[in-house]
Amino acid sequence: MLAASWRPSGERGLGYVMAKIVLAGFNIDYEVLQDIRNGGGVPEFVTPETISAAYARISRDPTDVGELRRKSRNEVLKARQSNAAIVFGMGHHSVAEHAVFNFDITDVSRLAIEALESHRLASYTEKSQRYIKLDEDFVLPAEIEQAGAADPFREYMARSFFRYRKLVDALTSSGMDEKLAGEDARYVLPLAVTGQLGMTINARSLEHLIKRLASHPLSEVRELSTAFLDVAGPVAPSLIRFVEPGHYDLHRYEAAIEAARALPTIPASDGPMETGPESTVRMIACDPEGDVFILATLVQGVINRGLGPAIEWVRGLSTEERMKVFESITAGMSIHDPMPREFEHAGMTFEIIMSAAAFGQAKRHRMASITTQPYDPSLGITIPKSVYAASLANFMIEAFDDAHRMVDLLGGPSSALAGYAWLNANRRRCVMTLNLREFYHMSRLREDGHAQWDIRDIASRMSRTVKRAFPVCGSLLGGKDMVRDAIRERNRKAGID
Ligand SMILES: Cc1cc2nc3c(=O)[nH]c(=O)nc-3n(C[C@H](O)[C@H](O)[C@H](O)COP(=O)(O)OP(=O)(O)OC[C@H]3O[C@@H](n4cnc5c(N)ncnc54)[C@H](O)[C@@H]3O)c2cc1C
Repeated sequence: MLAASWRPSGERGLGYVMAKIVLAGFNIDYEVLQDIRNGGGVPEFVTPETISAAYARISRDPTDVGELRRKSRNEVLKARQSNAAIVFGMGHHSVAEHAVFNFDITDVSRLAIEALESHRLASYTEKSQRYIKLDEDFVLPAEIEQAGAADPFREYMARSFFRYRKLVDALTSSGMDEKLAGEDARYVLPLAVTGQLGMTINARSLEHLIKRLASHPLSEVRELSTAFLDVAGPVAPSLIRFVEPGHYDLHRYEAAIEAARALPTIPASDGPMETGPESTVRMIACDPEGDVFILATLVQGVINRGLGPAIEWVRGLSTEERMKVFESITAGMSIHDPMPREFEHAGMTFEIIMSAAAFGQAKRHRMASITTQPYDPSLGITIPKSVYAASLANFMIEAFDDAHRMVDLLGGPSSALAGYAWLNANRRRCVMTLNLREFYHMSRLREDGHAQWDIRDIASRMSRTVKRAFPVCGSLLGGKDMVRDAIRERNRKAGID
């Protein structure tokens, strides 16, 4: 059974609903479909396992792959045995990636979505709190009921939705577009608010996800794990097998917490810092010779020489000469083109203080490595400029105080339950490590005019420090709308349409 969600909205009636995971789809051998279409009936086992089993054999069996699939289809139980032996016996795990599942996930808290989407080898499309005016749905987890705090929590959520509506109304009356008003008003809502999403994931990642979610401190997240297993496990039992969390999953951080108690309270090392009311971005580390490395690997890749001489050659170039190499390599690119793979050879690490609303967007960049602390009330809250302009900042501070009181009732800021009460405005520290290629992608999307202001602020602050660190290879950073003209002009000058 999944966590109960509370639906106070009049239209749908008062009461609890259960979070739901529905298996929306999975891949099957196309010839099974054709047989069904041709009146052959539905076979006893309809499963993606046969494709994994057939592909697993390709490496050692010279039989045509179509024939391997046919054999797998006709002998599903044998295919399952073969998966068990090859995937788990031999450790040839990547063959489980040929089985892919789609899930509808509804009535799940924003907090649990954070846990879910921390699994990067999957695809998510999520209801946006930017574009959709929110219903008054929230999760009331079993722990809060067991702690006897259900009534105060419901009352807290009712006050939060009241503030959200008031903020939407006040911002709209101050002349703001209703959609934008909703976008900013959501900063006052707690992370217990529900969302819905579609998720696509392969069997290998799914097995890992089920195991990791099962070790989570929140029952809502553990129940998601059970639900995934319940709906997908029977479809591909030979690929989703080892789902019990072990000691490593359950106790990974405990010894570290003990060891870290001795940590002195000194701030992070002095990297270049960009700070403002919305966010604080500090570059903690970057490749000191990132430009040299990227240009050298680009040059070395196209001529038959070692990397050493290429590095020495780039080191000897002036900034203008390096810029010429960079321009020749990126000539003809459009704002939609990714930077070449060589841009992955320069990396950087940031410490970023950001709101939950901004984190909800930053976490979607799967090619970055992101780790977080819990939300920390001592970092304050992010108050949208529109709220200041409408003289409603006190309203948000009142919401923060209310969240604080609720968190105290739930066991204090270090309790895992606190996350349900904290607001989209609450902040946390994140560490983000990424390479320059991925940062270009993030910058194009998140510095662009379509991006939401909070994540745009973060991306712009990051961009400023990256341009200082990589003055040549970072010189084309910027949102699509910011660099479109510059890129066209460069191409025009180079005689490329
Ligand atoms: C203006 C705006 C509005 C948005 N609105 C919504 C919304 O309403 N709902 C919502 O859910 N999301 C929304 N997003 C998030 C968006 O869909 C992306 O999840 C997010 O921007 C991260 O981008 P990415 O997936 O390209 O990046 P990353 O995950 O960092 O991936 C980088 C690149 O790697 C490649 N890649 C990574 N994983 C895969 C994969 N599995 N298969 C193929 N290629 C892959 C792609 O080339 C990708 O561009 C919005 C984003 C923006 C900028």
